[in-house]
Amino acid sequence: MNTPIRSNEVVLSARGVCKSYGDLEVLKGIDLNVHRGETAVIVGPSGSGKSTFLRCINRLETIESGLISVDGDIMGFRRNGNELHELREREVAAQRSKIGMVFQQFNLFGHLTVLENIIEGPCRVRAMPASEATARALSLLDQMGLSEKANAYPFELSGGQQQRVAIARAMAMDPVLMLFDEPTSALDPELVGEVLDVMRNLVLGGITMIIVTHEISFAREVGDTLIVMDEGRIIEMGSPDDVLSRPKTQRSADFFSHIK
Ligand code: ADP
Ligand code: MG
Repeated sequence: MNTPIRSNEVVLSARGVCKSYGDLEVLKGIDLNVHRGETAVIVGPSGSGKSTFLRCINRLETIESGLISVDGDIMGFRRNGNELHELREREVAAQRSKIGMVFQQFNLFGHLTVLENIIEGPCRVRAMPASEATARALSLLDQMGLSEKANAYPFELSGGQQQRVAIARAMAMDPVLMLFDEPTSALDPELVGEVLDVMRNLVLGGITMIIVTHEISFAREVGDTLIVMDEGRIIEMGSPDDVLSRPKTQRSADFFSHIK
């Protein structure tokens, strides 16, 4: 399912990204470009650094070396001539607000209704009038097939419904890039399909996405690029058909034989 609007414009650029926790090197030099409209899918064994990489992209984690740019912004820094100046947390938060993130655990605010969860970001961070934010939220809920749940609380929803609200909440900020970290891993099997369906619609809508998942057939269907990570490195990258049919490394072949 190649998106026709994919362009040559780079939305995410990662160059030589290294990250350690103490003595543990988790990312050992990640280089990746993701273009506007592209759906990049990342797979790899548990512990290979996939979540850490996503968290570095939106600077929930700092990196030891390398640079990450999103939509032209160097995450965490301001360029001044040849010098980079580290940004304050407030300024980093403004950069981060252009990136939508959906986690395995849905992370909704339990004391807010579905509608309140969705308009919170646009109203607080973007100072959007509540009436406008509400109109947009209702339209997003309609796209997610959740119109009738606007006034429900998260505990009244199934896991699949909560995850669809989490996606709507991220989309409400009009992100330039959406990051998904195993969005269906915490769901009962019968609820996975409804979440993949709304993600398919986002792909068709042309939003730039990086998806970490173990859903290989979904990756093959929607991915423009399939990336295999192992032990903090990208060991394989290409069209999903190529990577899945003709893996270049034994590590990828072994990994695919375990999850297919
Ligand atoms: P994946 O998402 O591919 O399963 P992670 O990025 O979660 O991998 O983790 C990569 C490695 O980094 C693992 O060895 C994990 O234990 C370690 N790690 C992740 N987060 C932390 C942290 N906050 N502190 C220390 N080690 C961490
Ligand atoms: Mg992970």
